[in-house]
Amino acid sequence: MAEKLIDGKALAQKMQLQLAEKVKKLEIEHGIVPGLVVILVGDNPASQIYVRNKERSALTAGFKSETVRLSDSISEEELLEIIAKYNQDPSYHGILVQLPLPSHINDKRVILAIDPHKDVDGFHPMNTGHLWSGRPLMVPCTPAGIMEILHEYEVDLEGKNVVIIGRSNIVGKPMAQLLLDKNATVTLTHSRTRHLASVCKRADILIVAIGQANFVTEDFVKEGGVVIDVGMNRDDNGKLIGDVNFERVAPLANLITPVPGGVGPMTITMLLEQTYQAALRSVEL
Ligand code: NAP
Repeated sequence: MAEKLIDGKALAQKMQLQLAEKVKKLEIEHGIVPGLVVILVGDNPASQIYVRNKERSALTAGFKSETVRLSDSISEEELLEIIAKYNQDPSYHGILVQLPLPSHINDKRVILAIDPHKDVDGFHPMNTGHLWSGRPLMVPCTPAGIMEILHEYEVDLEGKNVVIIGRSNIVGKPMAQLLLDKNATVTLTHSRTRHLASVCKRADILIVAIGQANFVTEDFVKEGGVVIDVGMNRDDNGKLIGDVNFERVAPLANLITPVPGGVGPMTITMLLEQTYQAALRSVEL
């Protein structure tokens, strides 16, 4: 068994308790309650679960939380009007549109319509630019959560070889930039990468975000390495499993995230943290 199992759930709980304290203080000192609105279009079952969890966590931490549930027949223009309304509403500091959207809605236009200062998912190109210029404002929540995990478990990044599998705008690319900012040497791999297993085997830290159950085996992992599994896949029984074959990789790794209970709980935590930070900035304006 791995020397250490990363407990993302415990870290998330700890951070959300601290956040609840900060939220109370913000209200007492400035009369501001951080507000988060989540907009859900259609009835994708996975999205329904994510949105419910986000709402529950936001309320528990003392946020003002609203979920706008819209029919999947809504037009793009109608959706843009709803976003414009929340952009103008000073009681909401964070706006999140749950992806994926129905195919008749252009998700790029929707992301562009969100006020970048309220874009708590960090997907707006302005926030991408801030991130890549080394002055992050809103950062995609999953990579931000992974940075918190690495910090909590005192994983030294300076000069380390980090290999990321998966180059999505949501996970892989922003992850690479956050790690570069901490002076790691980053290799971003994808489906066309040659000799993937041997590239990964050199990694001090391996981060996997591809969406293929049990893809990463012991052939990809260096002895004593750190393995972060972002993947969320369902097996035939509906059980949540990661992209890493945990049973085969854990004996080699020094630190490893389980699925569930690893990266997942940190994503919501960072969503709340960024909403709180946006509320705090509204005081300072
Ligand atoms: P995505 O947009 O589908 O991107 C997948 C990436 O993986 C692509 O860059 C793709 O390469 C690469 N890839 C796919 N198959 C590969 C292979 N056989 N070898 C090497 N690279 C391969 O996925 P995503 O949105 O980043 O999500 C990835 C996984 O993370 C999913 O399981 C998702 O559910 C999970 N996730 C979890 C959280 C969380 O909070 N825990 C948050 C976000 C995502 P190409 O670019 O070449 O196609």
